[in-house]
Amino acid sequence: MFDLIVKGGTLPDRTVADIGITGDRITAIGRLEGAEAGQVIDATGDLVSPPFVDPHFHLDATLSYGLPRINASGTLLEGIGLWGELKQIVTQEEMVARALDYCDWAASMGLLAIRSHVDTCDDSLKGVAAMLEVRDKVKGYIDLQLVAFPQDGFYRDPTARANTVRALDMGVDVVGGIPHFERTMADGAASVRELCEIAAERGLRVDMHCDESDDPLSRHIETLAYEAQRLGLQGRVAGSHLTSMHSMDNYYVSKLLPLMAEAGVAAIPNPLINIMLQGRHDTFPKRRGLTRVKEMQAQGITVGWGQDCVRDPWYSLGTADMLDVAFMGLHVAQMSSPDEMRRCFDMVTVENARILGLEGYGLHVGAVASLVVLDAGDPIEAVRLRAARLAVVSKGRVIARTPRGDAMLEISGRPGSVRRRHPVA
Ligand SMILES: [Zn+2]
Repeated sequence: MFDLIVKGGTLPDRTVADIGITGDRITAIGRLEGAEAGQVIDATGDLVSPPFVDPHFHLDATLSYGLPRINASGTLLEGIGLWGELKQIVTQEEMVARALDYCDWAASMGLLAIRSHVDTCDDSLKGVAAMLEVRDKVKGYIDLQLVAFPQDGFYRDPTARANTVRALDMGVDVVGGIPHFERTMADGAASVRELCEIAAERGLRVDMHCDESDDPLSRHIETLAYEAQRLGLQGRVAGSHLTSMHSMDNYYVSKLLPLMAEAGVAAIPNPLINIMLQGRHDTFPKRRGLTRVKEMQAQGITVGWGQDCVRDPWYSLGTADMLDVAFMGLHVAQMSSPDEMRRCFDMVTVENARILGLEGYGLHVGAVASLVVLDAGDPIEAVRLRAARLAVVSKGRVIARTPRGDAMLEISGRPGSVRRRHPVA
């Protein structure tokens, strides 16, 4: 007797299986003919995947678009300035309410684990308090991992250093940074070193906004990889954005990527935001502002797609749909072969789970019973359709359902409805 059976779904590896769930765990996978269950979801013909994971987000700023005004230039720097104004006037309650609204969107999209940076450049640390409250409120259905993020510069802002350490003392999970925003390259490198030392001392992971610029000489990722190795942090460090790598000298990159691989440093490009914000100083040809995704993967570096922003000072769109993120990433990185398209799906599921270090993630016996039933036949089709989440199960409970995306047709001689599925021959 199971609490829940998800019947007949196609798993990402194309095997067809029933999934039996007891409590908050997957307790059987295979043919469960005749097995009884309190609840059954019929997933025949539909893709059943482990949940989506977002490795890079800003939950303290989300759903604040237009407050106190709109980003007119569309640049990263105006966005940072705008956020600086907003964080003076926003209340803790408003931040909690918006973040909870976003988590509803995420739950409905099967996005069940989020790593969110939280700004530590505010002496009141109200954003940190707000996000800790949200982490606790959503823990029954979303795993929220918080990063202490000195948005205005760990050294550049006079109290950022002390406030970042305070945030970690309050229970923030991961050490962040923004070396390219410090006053000098030397300060940026020093900030990477000190922040990695703080993480090593406390046994924490590291995830820095790193080289988010078009400046080919912004090379803080080199220091991040060096420090990860020096301090024994292999597999626990990520560099977010890494957009400067797009513009770096090829010979330099041929040395940098093996160093990153050796140091076990992961990369988190954010394709929606990178394509929107970078290259704004260019005329034509205009750079795409996305890091070297396929080249890193060829070196064995873990690369995960991140969302970064939804309806905030930096980005006006977004719906908490990691398939949107994969879709944009696939195009900008030109990941067009079947293997590459399939990998884009993994980059918003299993590869991101690895970056976050999620325990019990996946579809196997003993795993946490969290999964998504998608209105698609396979992972590539899920990306193409940005498929509806027919059912979302979190920790053994069905928490969201969405109807299929079928359209009704009224064309004589043609079928009455259309699903837009197109299975591979
Ligand atoms: Zn960010």
